[in-house]
Amino acid sequence: MVPWGGVTCCLSAAALYLLGRSSGKDAEVLKSVTRVNQLKDLAQLLEAANKVLPFVVTISGRVSSDTPINCEYSGLRGVIVEETAEQHFLKHNDAGSWIQDSALMLSMCKEVPWYLDDGSARVYVVGARGAAGLVLTVGSEVFEESGRSLVRGTLDYLQGLKMLGVKRIERVLPTGTPLTVVGEAIKDDIGTVRIQRPLKGPFYVSHKTIDQLIANLGKWARWYKYASVGFAAFGFYLIAKQAFQYIMERKRHWEIKKRVLDAAAKRTTSDTEGSNGKAEFGVNGTRKDGQMPDICVICLEQEYNSVFVPCGHMCCCVTCSSHLTSCPLCRSRITQVVKTYRH
Ligand SMILES: [Zn+2]
Ligand SMILES: [Zn+2]
Repeated sequence: MVPWGGVTCCLSAAALYLLGRSSGKDAEVLKSVTRVNQLKDLAQLLEAANKVLPFVVTISGRVSSDTPINCEYSGLRGVIVEETAEQHFLKHNDAGSWIQDSALMLSMCKEVPWYLDDGSARVYVVGARGAAGLVLTVGSEVFEESGRSLVRGTLDYLQGLKMLGVKRIERVLPTGTPLTVVGEAIKDDIGTVRIQRPLKGPFYVSHKTIDQLIANLGKWARWYKYASVGFAAFGFYLIAKQAFQYIMERKRHWEIKKRVLDAAAKRTTSDTEGSNGKAEFGVNGTRKDGQMPDICVICLEQEYNSVFVPCGHMCCCVTCSSHLTSCPLCRSRITQVVKTYRH
């Protein structure tokens, strides 16, 4: 009898606790990174920094590029452009009705070299697509209805499909967007300063400021902690409740057994005194294996001869069973009483 509900709750609490701790740690790491106020200072800071460790900094500026992409659909100018096309169609299902569904047809991404510019200097950003926090703006979302060619339509119909059209979505990182980037700063041989994913450490490209990022992580850390405490408390409650029920049931069993044994002992004595022994019910004392005697636990008179559905307990006579709504041993509801026969 394992209290699975309680155990699951406690495991969830542990997982949430770990998540909260990791968010809290991330917030601490972000607090410790070097803040660069003006991009022109970064080159000097790099000179001064210890070359052994990755120099993790946070910078902000506006997205710019010497060769921006002109978006086909939205007309925006961007440095990262992601295009997806979703085929929308109706599908004939087994139940005979049409349901709408979609499938991703193509997904394409273009990126040109780009940098952050704050008016004082430029810092190139490398590998931003893999960074945490990057959200692309939806530049355009168009739905092109599919042309109705008779042949195509018939073929689709035979396959159990009805084409509706294609939805094209263009997501862009537009030039001029103010961004904050947290990453490792490096300077190459020709003096270009770049920021990239550190081998170990935070890499963020976000619309939020560094303080907002820290506050956000802190908020999540707190939320996880509260949720973890809540789950743990509920888990312990469930376990305690089940343990209590288990103890109460054992106690009830024990009391009933004692009562039945007493009654059986009394009867054995009176039988011996009366000397003729009421053999028809065979209720003379405990059974050979030391188990409960076969006496009904309610009237303590008749031999038990009925079984309760669904709990399966056998402890009452048919007469007493007819007055009961719940099992005297386990308290579960009785939906049916089945008479048993012994030979
Ligand atoms: Zn009875
Ligand atoms: Zn029962």
